[in-house]
Amino acid sequence: MTKCISLLGSTGSIGKQTLQVVRELGLSVAALTANTQVDLMEQQAREFHPELVVMMNEDAAKELRLRLSDLPIRVMPGEDGLMEAATLENADTVVTAVVGSVGLRPTLAAIEKKKRIALANKETLVCAGELVMAKAKQYGAEIVPVDSEHSAIFQSMQGCRDRSEIARLILTCSGGPFFGMSYEELEHMTPAHALKHPNWSMGAKITIDSATLMNKGLEIIEAMRLYDLPVEQVDAVIHRQSIVHSLVEYRDGAMIAQLGTPDMKLPIRYAFTYPNRAVTPDRRLDLLTCGDLTFHAPDMEAFRCLKIARECAKVGGTSCAIMNAANEVAVMAFLRGEIGFNDIARRVETALSRVEVKYEPSLADILEADRLARLAAVN
Ligand code: MG
Repeated sequence: MTKCISLLGSTGSIGKQTLQVVRELGLSVAALTANTQVDLMEQQAREFHPELVVMMNEDAAKELRLRLSDLPIRVMPGEDGLMEAATLENADTVVTAVVGSVGLRPTLAAIEKKKRIALANKETLVCAGELVMAKAKQYGAEIVPVDSEHSAIFQSMQGCRDRSEIARLILTCSGGPFFGMSYEELEHMTPAHALKHPNWSMGAKITIDSATLMNKGLEIIEAMRLYDLPVEQVDAVIHRQSIVHSLVEYRDGAMIAQLGTPDMKLPIRYAFTYPNRAVTPDRRLDLLTCGDLTFHAPDMEAFRCLKIARECAKVGGTSCAIMNAANEVAVMAFLRGEIGFNDIARRVETALSRVEVKYEPSLADILEADRLARLAAVN
């Protein structure tokens, strides 16, 4: 069980919910990192007394150093700071809640220090899944997923002694705010429409990914890497209520699922207490009032990002890294109002057609694919 964490990405949605769980379980904090939010970081540092605080932005780091000068807290800027936070002696668990491929190197460094990884950064497994899982095996580092779907699968696999007994993983998907719309209708959707997610409260990037279903595509790839299964054995179903968080189907036809309220604190708590469970102070699921549970097939013609992700999952190599980077750039352009909703998938396809895929890639190949895809996804 976790005693002391380094939290990479403490001011985002997952970061803030992680700190609620830290408070509740009475864990200690070795390091906190953020991009630019100095005010919130100052508050967090004063409450949790980490030994290290990192701001990715240099000016924000300078400002924070001044503000925390009355406390014995080191303040570091940028990626060096992130690497330091990921490898601190005192932390037994590193929570990777940063958004984007910036999470990759610190995660690998934490694995080499045999930390438990409470994995909330999608890009790590999407871009470099084979590399990361091989390294985790080599160093004996535990990777415990924080994402609700992967945590549900992880929990549903606890009684499984032989992976070959698994027939299929079924990830559930809320369907996002545009469920049921045609490709033509989607053309007119704006960031304001997309940012109203029905069940989960999340950051802007992941909210758009939920609207395009790219989020589910990324999660399918993550599940393949985490559990070493081909894409043919990983499916997604639309489940609007977000009560069944995902399922494992075994070869004898048994399906085991994890159900609960849509609250990220449950998977975060489990990532810290695994293999044990702690009492929750939060509202529990009431089966008698939660209503009907429904399941639908996703529409892969309208939501093209999901189709692209499944294709990249099949191709392998650096194709997932190219897709992921192009998607990040395209989503930012959409959020700025520069491109339409369906242009996100178009730009990802453009990048995939422009950047050459490398197989059995090294970390350098993956980072280069990421860089080239960002350049290729601009028009
Ligand atoms: Mg999820």
